[in-house]
Amino acid sequence: MKPLLRQNPQTLSMKWHREHFKKGDPIFHRGDEGSDAYLIEQGEVRIEAGQDPSTRRNITLRTGEIFGEIALVDRMPRTASAMAAEDTTLIAISSEYFLTQFNQAAPLVSHLITMVVSRFRELSKSSLPGRVQNSELRDYVFNHVQMSQNISDAIESDEFHCYYQPIMHLADQCLAGFEALIRWQRPSIGMVYPGDFIDIAESTGLIVPMGRWMIDQAIRGLAQLQARMDAVHPNRPPLFMSINLSVCQLREPDEVDIIIRMIRNSGVAMDRIKLEITESVMLGDVHEAILAMEKIKSAGIQVAIDDFGTGYSSLSYLATMPIDNLKVDQSFVFAMREHESSYRIVRAITGMAHDMGMECIAEGIEDIRDADLLRQLGCKYGQGYHFAKPISLDQALDYIERRGCPD
Ligand code: C2E
Ligand code: CA
Ligand code: CA
Repeated sequence: MKPLLRQNPQTLSMKWHREHFKKGDPIFHRGDEGSDAYLIEQGEVRIEAGQDPSTRRNITLRTGEIFGEIALVDRMPRTASAMAAEDTTLIAISSEYFLTQFNQAAPLVSHLITMVVSRFRELSKSSLPGRVQNSELRDYVFNHVQMSQNISDAIESDEFHCYYQPIMHLADQCLAGFEALIRWQRPSIGMVYPGDFIDIAESTGLIVPMGRWMIDQAIRGLAQLQARMDAVHPNRPPLFMSINLSVCQLREPDEVDIIIRMIRNSGVAMDRIKLEITESVMLGDVHEAILAMEKIKSAGIQVAIDDFGTGYSSLSYLATMPIDNLKVDQSFVFAMREHESSYRIVRAITGMAHDMGMECIAEGIEDIRDADLLRQLGCKYGQGYHFAKPISLDQALDYIERRGCPD
């Protein structure tokens, strides 16, 4: 599984890497060609600015602070020297990565940053570089950069796992398929859930290798789960596997073609795979998103719209897009039993899905009553804690034995 991740250019041109310095080691000297910026993960760094003794001043920076950031923008020679004041670990932020992000920013934003940097350069000829004063911003940047480095390390050291949540046929309560959900088992910390790292993986591009890894895992998982299903309940229709795709994966050039090829080369029947895409995909470049989904659909893979009803997007896209499944967002399912209005929304969604020839999957079913209501509304599939939480492959194999289909 690892080579798949390593081959990806996103991980090869690492955006961050750790560097260790012993007390007294120089980090850079005034006049050095500038490129990377540094975040202090641990330790202390002394910055010496000012050219002659009358203007020379020192400043000590500690954990969470960034330095060398000006050269990141303009790649001019360093105007200060930096030295490790004690044993220190830095996360180097590569200028290549920064410039890619910078070039993608709105022209006004890049122009303003360039202006600020050149004024700062003038000022810092005679004084010290400024420190980030806003501690909230500083903490945010620190966490973000550190997490990105941790995610990238975790990919290399196999800390991610693919979990599976059963999806049931509501009509007969038999297993219909699974949704693959990523988990991060961090040594000495424990299980980390996607809500704590998917955003960062998306903003750093790490979601691309991570997403490919999940597809590979989920397809391998499906083969084992199907074999067990065939052994225990031989006359059931084949299981499907739902896999989440991030909008960033859809927008990455060639990525959709790569994903389709991966699925095709695995030998699994294409229509056993459902790719779940959140409704928010419609908020950006709709044309691009529709093209990507058409490609997926014409390869024979199923398309599901995830979190349906929460994306604030126009309903008109439903008619123009190649959608096989609507996933009713769990917030409606949670509220449905208590609030008549939510029940009506779910009824409208299931009715609309029917009319448009799509199948409904309801998520967040925590109670038998939810399952009954949804079944009565004609929703075909359901998933939620009432049936099972997301579980490991071994547990999912066991689930098939115990609860694959009631006798
Ligand atoms: P999602 O795609 O909407 O997945 C459903 C989430 O609801 C999962 O959270 C699942 O554990 C949780 N859930 C399922 N049934 C119930 C229930 O009955 N009650 C409650 N309270 N929660 C339920 P999880 O695994 O933490 O994933 C969160 C989100 O992270 C996912 O939401 C998905 O958007 C994203 N995600 C997970 N794995 C991947 C992945 O491999 N790739 C991408 N791009 N996103 C992923
Ligand atoms: Ca999903
Ligand atoms: Ca969802």
